[in-house]
Amino acid sequence: MPTLRELTEYHQPTTLDEALKLLRRTSVKTVPLAGGTSLVPEAAHDVQAVVDLNALGLSYLQTSEDFAEHLVIGATTKLQAIVDDAAARTYANGVLVTAILDAASRNTREAASLAGSIVAAPGNSPLFTVLLALDAHLTVRTARSTRQDEIALPYWAPQPRALILRVTLPAWPDNLHAAYEKVARTPADQPIVCVAARARVADQQLHDIRLALGGVAEKPIVITQPAGAVDDLAQLAVSAITPPDDYFATADYRRAMVGVLTKRVLNAMTQSG
Ligand SMILES: Cc1cc2nc3c(=O)[nH]c(=O)nc-3n(C[C@H](O)[C@H](O)[C@H](O)COP(=O)(O)OP(=O)(O)OC[C@H]3O[C@@H](n4cnc5c(N)ncnc54)[C@H](O)[C@@H]3O)c2cc1C
Repeated sequence: MPTLRELTEYHQPTTLDEALKLLRRTSVKTVPLAGGTSLVPEAAHDVQAVVDLNALGLSYLQTSEDFAEHLVIGATTKLQAIVDDAAARTYANGVLVTAILDAASRNTREAASLAGSIVAAPGNSPLFTVLLALDAHLTVRTARSTRQDEIALPYWAPQPRALILRVTLPAWPDNLHAAYEKVARTPADQPIVCVAARARVADQQLHDIRLALGGVAEKPIVITQPAGAVDDLAQLAVSAITPPDDYFATADYRRAMVGVLTKRVLNAMTQSG
């Protein structure tokens, strides 16, 4: 007969303090559970307890219709709820929702949460890549503190006893543009390489550029530049990466595609400005 400790405990707290108190325990290996689409098949065998986050009131989207204010998305918001939200669909020229549609099938989107998708994101995640380009910030609270920290996505790393509470995307003025492109074995497949970018466009010149590259490292990476010409930025992107060589593609192919896709996204933004 297994002892109680050997069985996985399931908790569904209704307050953040309660959830963090459970996660603080060191005697019982406890992890957060959102949609479970990654955790349930992949959880380490030593997980002894899960803390279901779905009753914490963290499923919401907040913004103004003209995006003069930030777009704030609660951690447990389902990916499909973002796709179904009229404002989120038009935010950042639609690239956020395009990336979500690329990242997961309808069944997975109905269960998977935004924060869970960030934590479990593979290196070629379209969603993580687009969030980097859009300058997403995460609000995080650790189990040991009552403080909430806002962390820019490139500086965030998963921590065992910390919860992502929400994701904040910046206000989106009319002169800001975004674009996303990928290459994959088939249109429905996960990307081999994907590129997302955001920039201010004035007189067809790019400023305040954020370029994010997926499928080139363990996690997508971001490059920022105050200004630049399309060809120079594409060259910079190619020289910034040391991509893997694996059964999906060679490193040379990934490098070549980063150059091609970077030019595509930057040209698309230049023309829309
Ligand atoms: C059939 C299927 C196909 C899939 N295909 C793809 C695919 O092609 N590409 C792809 O990228 N993914 C794919 N996934 C994975 C899935 O989309 C992601 O893993 C999912 O988005 C994770 O979200 P979740 O809410 O289910 O997280 P969970 O599985 O609940 O949790 C994932 C991780 O995040 C942690 N976590 C969850 N919420 C928080 C929080 N608020 N704060 C801190 N930590 C938290 C958990 O402890 C766990 O470590 C697939 C999944 C399935 C079931």
